[in-house]
Amino acid sequence: MLSLLANDPFDKPPCRGCSSYLVEPYIKCAECGPSPFLLCLQCFTRGYEYKKHQSDHKYEIMTSDFPILEPGWTAQEEMALLEAVMDCGFGNWQDVAYQMRTKTKEECESHYMKNFINNPLFSSTLLSLRQMEEARTADSAIPFKRKRPPNSIHLGMVHDITAVSDISYLNCEVDSACG
Ligand SMILES: [Zn+2]
Ligand SMILES: [Zn+2]
Repeated sequence: MLSLLANDPFDKPPCRGCSSYLVEPYIKCAECGPSPFLLCLQCFTRGYEYKKHQSDHKYEIMTSDFPILEPGWTAQEEMALLEAVMDCGFGNWQDVAYQMRTKTKEECESHYMKNFINNPLFSSTLLSLRQMEEARTADSAIPFKRKRPPNSIHLGMVHDITAVSDISYLNCEVDSACG
């Protein structure tokens, strides 16, 4: 008997970015609503933005019915556990539990061994999300944000030529190329 933690009786809407069917873990914007703004991990990592939704919005990782998760462990606790293991070092379950606060040393150890050692995909997904979040809060420049126009070859030239500060030459070049 499967007891899924999913508490959403409705069919999920597709990813807002690419309209693909969402599989866990996926991302739910915590700031857009009331209809849920959902993104797949691919669109999320690309920094997808749409209308009011910005890539620096707070988000939740939706893993409610991810089959490897145990009841009683929230996505936040999973993240905290991974973070604590990174901070304290693998095997240092006493300190990990101390940092976690909500779980005992034994719970942390068995949960980590069971869910993360045997599921490198899931743990690496969570870790990369975590690192992105940290990169984002540490520096407002988001490297994967793509706002360049499609003809970026010209932009490359702008950079090179501006370096030798010959902008008038550049303008000529662009004009003649357009005309
Ligand atoms: Zn998508
Ligand atoms: Zn949003």
